[in-house]
Amino acid sequence: MAKIIDGKAVSARVKEKIAMETAELKAKYGVSIGLAVVIVGDNPASRIYVNNKKKACEAVGFESFEYALPTETTQEELLALIDKLNKDDKVNGILVQLPLPKHLDEKLVINNISPDKDVDAFHPVNVGKIMIGDYSFLPCTPAGVMELIASTGVEICGKECVVVGRSNIVGKPMSMLLLHKSGTVTTCHSKTKDLAEQCRRADILVAAVGVPNLIKGNMIKEGAVVIDVGMNRLENGKLCGDVEFETAEKAAGYITPVPGGVGPMTIAMLMQNTLTAAKTKLGIQ
Ligand code: NDP
Repeated sequence: MAKIIDGKAVSARVKEKIAMETAELKAKYGVSIGLAVVIVGDNPASRIYVNNKKKACEAVGFESFEYALPTETTQEELLALIDKLNKDDKVNGILVQLPLPKHLDEKLVINNISPDKDVDAFHPVNVGKIMIGDYSFLPCTPAGVMELIASTGVEICGKECVVVGRSNIVGKPMSMLLLHKSGTVTTCHSKTKDLAEQCRRADILVAAVGVPNLIKGNMIKEGAVVIDVGMNRLENGKLCGDVEFETAEKAAGYITPVPGGVGPMTIAMLMQNTLTAAKTKLGIQ
């Protein structure tokens, strides 16, 4: 039976460390750290994510600045706000909650965030840095997954790592981070032939697909580390991952639950990136 990787506990440890460093920076340099969160429209899921981010800011001692804009906000108005935040000394990190309403160009908005304040690590400059392994910010979800793997004590170097999913925000950077740690990485996607066979080779398996219960216990190597990034809302309102937990936990050595696995880590890593931005600005990174 697999050991459960407790994302809440790991994220609490990460946030505690951030809170301590934040207090030290305040005492030593008299600075406070600020995260600006921009939300456009009234998507209920986005609203929940933004509130969770605000709570996390409070918990670690950051200031949070929320900009809740109406759905009708124009491209020019949003870009003007980004420009203002880029120049604002109190703001160390800028996060634009996605998805944006259809009439707004997400790519253009992200490209206008200063790479030094791009705490989501979505700007092409930061994406490029991840590729060459010279990064200041790590994308939050893959970075959180790396912390969870580290918490098991299992070494990545030389291991067979299989990532299911190749999105720009999770799958691709995930594969890159595992590669930088010298894992032998296979990236699977919707056109992969025999997904089960690929998954069965994995010492470390990361599922970031968005299909409930796609990965079953019989697709998992005995003793593997299984990280489930999936967050799928079922018709009965319950949250479920991409891994069928009941069968997978019988085969895996370590496994993350949904909820309570990767989710809490994503926010903790956002706080980490905001701290990194503040330290870089102070020249102490
Ligand atoms: P995307 O929809 O952008 O990407 C999904 C990927 O899965 C694609 O690469 C797609 O392949 C692949 N895929 C789809 N169906 C299959 C299949 N049957 N077999 C193999 N591969 C398949 O999703 P995201 O990467 O944004 O998110 C993935 C999941 O992670 C979602 O459930 C999301 O909610 C969750 N998530 C959770 C976060 C957290 O904090 N816990 C943060 C971010 C995301 P192809 O490229 O060929 O289309």
